Amino acid sequence: MILDAEIKAQLAQYLQLMENDIVLKVSAGDDQVSRDMLALVDELATMSSKIKVEKTRLERTPSFSVNRIGEDTGVTFAGVPLGHEFTSLVLALLQVSGRPPKVDQAVIDQIKNIKGTYHFESYVSLTCHNCPDVVQALNVMSVLNPNISHTMIDGAAFKDEVEQKGIMAVPTVFLNGEPFASGRMSLEEILAKLGSTPDASAFAEKEPFDVLVVGGGPAGATAAIYAARKGIRTGIVAERFGGQILDTLGIENFISVKYTEGPKLAASLEEHVKHYNVDIMNLQRAKRLEKKDLIEVELENGAVLKSKTVILATGARWRNLGVPGEAEFKNKGVAYCPHCDGPLFEGKHVAVIGGGNSGIEAAIDLAGIAKHVTVLEFAPELKADAVLQDRLYSLPNVTVIKNAQTKEITGTDKVNGITYIDRATGEEHHIELQGVFVQIGLVPNTEWLEGVVERNRFGEIIVDKRGATNVPGVFAAGDCTDSAYKQIIISMGSGATAALGAFDYLIRN
Ligand SMILES: Cc1cc2nc3c(=O)[nH]c(=O)nc-3n(C[C@H](O)[C@H](O)[C@H](O)COP(=O)(O)OP(=O)(O)OC[C@H]3O[C@@H](n4cnc5c(N)ncnc54)[C@H](O)[C@@H]3O)c2cc1C
Repeated sequence: MILDAEIKAQLAQYLQLMENDIVLKVSAGDDQVSRDMLALVDELATMSSKIKVEKTRLERTPSFSVNRIGEDTGVTFAGVPLGHEFTSLVLALLQVSGRPPKVDQAVIDQIKNIKGTYHFESYVSLTCHNCPDVVQALNVMSVLNPNISHTMIDGAAFKDEVEQKGIMAVPTVFLNGEPFASGRMSLEEILAKLGSTPDASAFAEKEPFDVLVVGGGPAGATAAIYAARKGIRTGIVAERFGGQILDTLGIENFISVKYTEGPKLAASLEEHVKHYNVDIMNLQRAKRLEKKDLIEVELENGAVLKSKTVILATGARWRNLGVPGEAEFKNKGVAYCPHCDGPLFEGKHVAVIGGGNSGIEAAIDLAGIAKHVTVLEFAPELKADAVLQDRLYSLPNVTVIKNAQTKEITGTDKVNGITYIDRATGEEHHIELQGVFVQIGLVPNTEWLEGVVERNRFGEIIVDKRGATNVPGVFAAGDCTDSAYKQIIISMGSGATAALGAFDYLIRN
């Protein structure tokens, strides 16, 4: 039995929601993955009379497609979609059977109107928490538009193909055989990348806002909700709604919720914001802020939004090392997300740069997958908590090098080594390895505010206890500010503070 009793019980409930018959067309061989896939497919068929199974030959073996009766839908799974992809499989079964996807009608219309033929292939790992969003988005597109098809490929089951295509990060998506995108993407982002995005004219008619929030992470979402609850005209512009939590796996300190996962929390945030009358402008990046009578925020697409107050909540992003080879080999061996990309380095030698909590957590995780992990720490000592260090040092396949200044990441078409300088002796060393995980902290997304809003030497926006900046009417919240600690709950608290501060300002001015 490939599914345990608990999962089977849940699955049985979902399968009852199927609307019409579907057929799984299965391409299997004699290998173990084929056997596991057949076991899964047979188990599904025994659980619902609406699921038929046919043997066939598909482009990849082992794989199976999920189809309406008499019509190929274009949704294919190559490998066994268990782990994080099990939900993708369940949703595909339901949606192909006729159950409508949970997507706005406007987006459904947008997908149905896409012209041209698009065949997507997404390479995933079953432990990647960013992958299901991409797989599910591409499956929804395939289900809704007959000219779109999508194959999810488990990299672990198709190692040669992954190697040959030089894929070293998941999810990696190919479109019609050409590289299309890498990393987590929402359905809206994929549609935008296909050229289906609102341009500046869609913003031209917007009335000035009372509160315009820039940033859609925990701080921005909270600020928008607090502002909207005051009944004032509220807008939110976000480059990527959800922010850093989209890249976070387990969250255990979001008080009152014992455990949740980042993408789930991001979806709840969005749902909560949508519950109010907030103008959400997702996938839009602000590039200029200017205080005139009103405050103007210019977007990358050229549109200029006006507002009486602005709350800056642009958060932070991974800090780059800034050494030769880092940008060149990004996604070709240089990675930032161990949970996502770790499985692609199975049996390989990797380095983790950074000996803080995130670096040591990454090294511990990677030691379970990779052949060997070398931790490079710039300082003479690791900064991670003692309990993490103890775990790290108990592992047999980890080396820690302190006082190490990374000089270069080397490679040809992908990473083949790292060069560092021993800061104690000045000697240069080279280690041959296949992957480098950079874990050296975060930088605030505030460069675009230089000379406009006062920032400290780390680039963090300086705020007072009401969240106000030095520019009247401009407030800030969350990781982009000089708050002492950067956490979800702290960002939310400061988002609330900034919104209340902005409301007070509106009353007084
Ligand atoms: C791997 C990882 C694990 C973590 N784990 C935890 C944890 O377990 N618990 C915890 O409490 N915290 C955790 N954190 C920290 C937590 O995620 C952050 O403190 C929190 O997300 C900060 O929220 P924010 O809204 O200030 O910024 P962000 O989450 O960074 O959001 C910023 C928003 O602004 C947008 N943006 C940026 N620039 C622009 C622009 N120019 N125009 C428009 N929009 C823009 C972004 O797209 C995004 O929507 C973790 C962080 C990471 C990276």
